[in-house]
Amino acid sequence: MNLDSCPNCGSAKYIKSGIIDNRQRYRCKNCNYYFTVNKLGKRIDDYYVNKALQLYLEGLTYREIERILGVSHVSVINWVKKYNIKRPYNAEYHPTYKILNASELGVYFQNPANIKGAGVIVTELGDKFMLIKWERFRE
Ligand SMILES: [Zn+2]
Repeated sequence: MNLDSCPNCGSAKYIKSGIIDNRQRYRCKNCNYYFTVNKLGKRIDDYYVNKALQLYLEGLTYREIERILGVSHVSVINWVKKYNIKRPYNAEYHPTYKILNASELGVYFQNPANIKGAGVIVTELGDKFMLIKWERFRE
């Protein structure tokens, strides 16, 4: 189950890069080859449990979390129940989000219009970053 090297070039330098069909996907930093490990079954990496709950608290729906992380919405619902996570209902704000890499993130923050009036939260997501922006609904 645990790999210690890239199946393409043998490098040990690889990083997590999302989950595809309940399989942890990795990207080799040496040759950029993507590979997955065997099915994780019910034991999905804690990293994604944390990320899913974080996104849930930010106001994203189960389906959105499924789309972003690649873990089923049923898993997310179960984690929310298991850890007894509750979020306050707030109709005045709604989150929008983007997934960017490190250099795109730099460009994004260089434009003051992108952060003015709302602010953003940045969370790591595999080898990229997710930006969650809160905007007040116009009345
Ligand atoms: Zn490689």
